[in-house]
Amino acid sequence: MVMSINRPTSLEEALQILADNPEMEILGGGTDFMVEVNYGHRRPVSILSLSRIAELRDFEVSGSELYLGSGITFSKLVAPPLAELVPGLAQAARTVGSPQIRNAGTIGGNLATASPAGDTLPILLALDARVEISSLNSVRSLRINEFITGPKQTVLQPQELITGIRVPLHDSSQEFLKVGTRNAMVISVATVALVIDWDSYRVGCGLGSVGPGPMEALEAERWLAAKIDWGNRRIPLEESALRSFSELVARAARPIDDHRSTAEYRRHAVAVCARRALERASHAYE
Ligand SMILES: Cc1cc2nc3c(=O)[nH]c(=O)nc-3n(C[C@H](O)[C@H](O)[C@H](O)COP(=O)(O)OP(=O)(O)OC[C@H]3O[C@@H](n4cnc5c(N)ncnc54)[C@H](O)[C@@H]3O)c2cc1C
Repeated sequence: MVMSINRPTSLEEALQILADNPEMEILGGGTDFMVEVNYGHRRPVSILSLSRIAELRDFEVSGSELYLGSGITFSKLVAPPLAELVPGLAQAARTVGSPQIRNAGTIGGNLATASPAGDTLPILLALDARVEISSLNSVRSLRINEFITGPKQTVLQPQELITGIRVPLHDSSQEFLKVGTRNAMVISVATVALVIDWDSYRVGCGLGSVGPGPMEALEAERWLAAKIDWGNRRIPLEESALRSFSELVARAARPIDDHRSTAEYRRHAVAVCARRALERASHAYE
């Protein structure tokens, strides 16, 4: 039985409440939280709801960085201006659930749930984004794969909130591809996110649903960065290059068999998505 629901209207108030009551359970849009309550997996006694904290729903561009409040919904990510600023994240957000889920679910909740199938995680990893975590007296910032330590496990401490996500805003090609058992309202079987950063000559490749958390295809990233003609913005598209890249990406996956897919199919799906991501990134520049 829920004994109390606290609904602060400012971040400062929320952090003070959490400092005084570290046992409180945090409620974002409720799209994961309420499923757990309904199935009896979670029995919250006191809840801290973030729904009235306007600061968490804001975003800000400063210099070459985008700050996204953790309360930003998927619906906000898929629309301009955010969809233009981070198109890869918009592609990922567009694949999440249904319009109702996208209206309620937040990017902060997706990170805190840390599901291996969380759709924003691989693209945030590929973008080299950082999660900002605050408590009353401190703020720390971590890469996605430092923040997530295993399936549904993070470094978040009881008095801490995810307050935002910092995303480098560079001139980049961004792609996100998802394979599921149907075309919509589906938990991913495999996802691939690719970022080619023309400013810093960096390649980011993140994978989802094929490991205990979002995975980085490091060898594939290094291989592609060495093959791209950065000066002329030319991505290698010959058959041998597509094959090498997709094989290297698939090799980074650590898939398992489960009720949604076999490990073998997941690895195959990753290879196909990696090849398509590279082709699409190249077409975006034609
Ligand atoms: C029908 C359905 C379809 C779905 N489809 C998809 C899908 O396709 N892809 C996908 O990735 N996900 C999907 N989800 C899962 C869910 O919508 C996302 O994980 C969503 O991002 C959760 O955000 P929320 O704001 O609703 O979090 P909540 O449900 O409110 O919270 C989830 C967890 O995060 C914690 N939390 C929330 N906000 C914060 C914060 N700021 N700081 C610290 N902790 C916090 C909560 O305590 C809780 O443990 C689906 C869910 C449903 C019910």
